[in-house]
Amino acid sequence: MPNVYNWQLGREMSYPYEERHPQWQFAFVFNPNRCIGCQTCTMACKSTWTFSKGQELFWWNNVESKPYGGYPQNWDSKLLNMLEEVNPGKQVWRTAEKEAEKKPYGTFAGMTIFEAAEKFPAPDGAQQALGYLPTDDEWRHPNIHEDTATGGQFEKDQQFGGSAQLPEHKVWFFHLARICNHCTYPACLASCPRQAIYKRPEDGIVLIDQSRCRGYRKCVEGCPYKKAMYRPTTRTSEKCVGCFPRIEGQDPTVSPTGAPAETRCMAACVGKIRLQGLVKKNPDGSWADDPKNPLHFLIRDRQVALPLYPQFGTEPNGFYIPPRWVPRGYLVQMFGPGVDHAIEQYSCPDRELLAVLQLFRASQQIIFRYEIEKGPKVAEIEVTMPSGAMKVQEIYNDTVIGFNKLGEEVVRTTIEEPTFERPAESHVNSI
Ligand code: SF4
Ligand code: SF4
Repeated sequence: MPNVYNWQLGREMSYPYEERHPQWQFAFVFNPNRCIGCQTCTMACKSTWTFSKGQELFWWNNVESKPYGGYPQNWDSKLLNMLEEVNPGKQVWRTAEKEAEKKPYGTFAGMTIFEAAEKFPAPDGAQQALGYLPTDDEWRHPNIHEDTATGGQFEKDQQFGGSAQLPEHKVWFFHLARICNHCTYPACLASCPRQAIYKRPEDGIVLIDQSRCRGYRKCVEGCPYKKAMYRPTTRTSEKCVGCFPRIEGQDPTVSPTGAPAETRCMAACVGKIRLQGLVKKNPDGSWADDPKNPLHFLIRDRQVALPLYPQFGTEPNGFYIPPRWVPRGYLVQMFGPGVDHAIEQYSCPDRELLAVLQLFRASQQIIFRYEIEKGPKVAEIEVTMPSGAMKVQEIYNDTVIGFNKLGEEVVRTTIEEPTFERPAESHVNSI
């Protein structure tokens, strides 16, 4: 297999195809600290794309309650176990070797799903990526274990004592919202023997060509995130299409001037946990220096948002701000070794980070650039940091302004939410 560079692993890795990169890459940041598990995103996607016969179990967007929930059931722990079996005790990170651009999280010393498939071929020798086909039963329960916590101590004297105290709760769960990561090195694409899957050069969205697909389900087997799904009525596989007409600026209801708009699941998010965008890539796959792009700022500059299971090796383009109250070991397994740094940043955001965090769900159009207008200092708050140390957070009522791809202003908001106090006299609708 050819070698490609994976910045999330901080090293080269083998992949069945030569390295090629799109001009822009579809990417997103989700903030599970704010997700309320309402599933509005799930239904926004379902009612837009997958309501027809044969798509009953298609949840291109799903929200699962971790640690027990998963769709399909146990998708992540199953694959983690498979990797551990082929490379016991060696799925580890070398974190001393950090370098901002090339290896921001250090180097992954273990085996990716591509390397594991190469070194340990399946009996029929056909796998390009280590994976498995979920059973029908595993696909059947999209929201199994919703809101189920772990870590409870039920002895009388310990009952939930100190359970809700940072830095880590004793009893915990969190909502993990998931869509296809439109990976830089998609395992679905690598696994397809028909070459029916392709990555668009203009925006990096990964699509399945329905006219080429023969329903072999190799993509379902190969995708480590289980985001390719088989439709029995058409005998083809389908997956998230990244709402590409909206990305192309073709939805006049939200893009009157033709600028790219966020996907339906992002635009519908009630908890304002989502910020989607397009990041500019260099021909060698590195991210172009674009410091005022909010995704570039959150992911590459501040490193407050981290990839989901980077060790799988697909270089996913979905990033998460780790939930603060969850045991660190669990988070490091899920988001890699950048967790402590990310939580430290998020616990006490500085002036610029606090401003950029206001852009989540602030506009239906994709924000390509932000500016901050400075405002007065309005508060000082004492914050307990994850280390236990105290820090003073200074809050300024700055204004953050977002611009679309055409340079048009699409959002202007302040740190302090504007409030309006009604005069005391009675009103027609007063109780
Ligand atoms: S998440 Fe899965 S389906 Fe989506 S691009 Fe990556 S490998 Fe393919
Ligand atoms: S709409 Fe937003 S808050 Fe609600 S479940 Fe989806 S991601 Fe979470």
